[in-house]
Amino acid sequence: MTTQVKSYAAHSATDPLGPFDINRRSPGPDDVAIEILFCGICHSDLHYTHNDWADALPAVHPCVPGHEIVGRVTTVGARVTKHRFGDLVAVGCLVDSDHTCPNCQAGLENFCRNLTLTFGSVDRHGTAPMTFGGYSESIVVNERFVLRVPTNLDPAGAAPLLCAGITTYSPLRRFGVGPGKKVGIVGLGGLGHMGVKLARAFGARVVVFTTSPRKVEDALRLGAHEVVVSSNAGEMSKHAGSFDFILDTVSAEHDINQYLYLLRIDGNLTLVGAPPKPLSLSSFALIFGNRSVSGSNIGGIAQTQEMLDFCGEHNITADIELISVQKINEAWARLEKADVKYRFVIDMASLKS
Ligand code: NAP
Ligand code: ZN
Repeated sequence: MTTQVKSYAAHSATDPLGPFDINRRSPGPDDVAIEILFCGICHSDLHYTHNDWADALPAVHPCVPGHEIVGRVTTVGARVTKHRFGDLVAVGCLVDSDHTCPNCQAGLENFCRNLTLTFGSVDRHGTAPMTFGGYSESIVVNERFVLRVPTNLDPAGAAPLLCAGITTYSPLRRFGVGPGKKVGIVGLGGLGHMGVKLARAFGARVVVFTTSPRKVEDALRLGAHEVVVSSNAGEMSKHAGSFDFILDTVSAEHDINQYLYLLRIDGNLTLVGAPPKPLSLSSFALIFGNRSVSGSNIGGIAQTQEMLDFCGEHNITADIELISVQKINEAWARLEKADVKYRFVIDMASLKS
């Protein structure tokens, strides 16, 4: 049995998004059905839908994006123990995995070879050819991939934690960011502004690198100790050799070598931004300082819950622009121009109007 629900979809890499009816499966014994209240807009929604990542993750259309979901539980299956009717819950980038491989066993479902992404993966239940994401009225998800939202958090501001939050939390934790560490955040968008808030909450000294002089005041308000406009060579050189860790959240082609020279000996730059084309890497920027470059992919389910609980304790949510679903195409056009303060979130009640 399936239920027809409303969504917003793109039918090709160049079409705008528009209304589209999709099917959701009836909840099985391990499933939770969720009425979606809010869904954040991640730059990955655009990259995927526009087929920017044709080599690594080719787009399949029609595509219903959205993986920063907060909603209310409407039905639970017979075997569900973690969630109850009426709970405020969340779903991020993953909706299933094989549960048995070494990565799943280690709590790293994000590296399961058989993982099911919230949108754009083969639907293992066969309800549709591909999974459809959160730009929709409701979703049905295996309970293991449904997270608890701390009740003190604003639900709309909490939605971006499900991707922008965990994607920055995970590498900041992995590289021990905390008191006594100097951390750079490159790019002040959805991920970048969460990186600033989290690194500050962990007790580090935080410096933002931005290409947008208009964002300097906001960066300081969000928690940065210092802001550098990256086109200012003099300001950049003042920080040479001084960073323990730099998190690069940039969505487009840019020069990472100018940031590598800012790392101290043994420092690390982690890429979470996923520009469509390969970046060029200067071997000397690495060699003269034993520096390293890493990548980081969202986070596992247990760490995502840990991040939500941390945000609950520290009252951390995203700074959002709440929009109706009818404004999605405008929001996407603004995101392409790095014009967002600092995450668009769709009020899903507007889908009913
Ligand atoms: P976003 O809100 O659009 O922010 C990206 C920021 O990058 C912009 O605000 C801008 O900051 C900077 N930027 C944009 N174009 C630039 C250019 N040409 N040169 C230099 N800087 C530029 O995007 P997001 O949602 O935070 O996502 C950021 C990236 O992370 C995307 O590529 C996304 O696909 C990727 N991502 C990866 C993961 C993962 O698991 N690794 C998860 C989620 C997203 P300034 O104006 O401050 O310069
Ligand atoms: Zn995302």
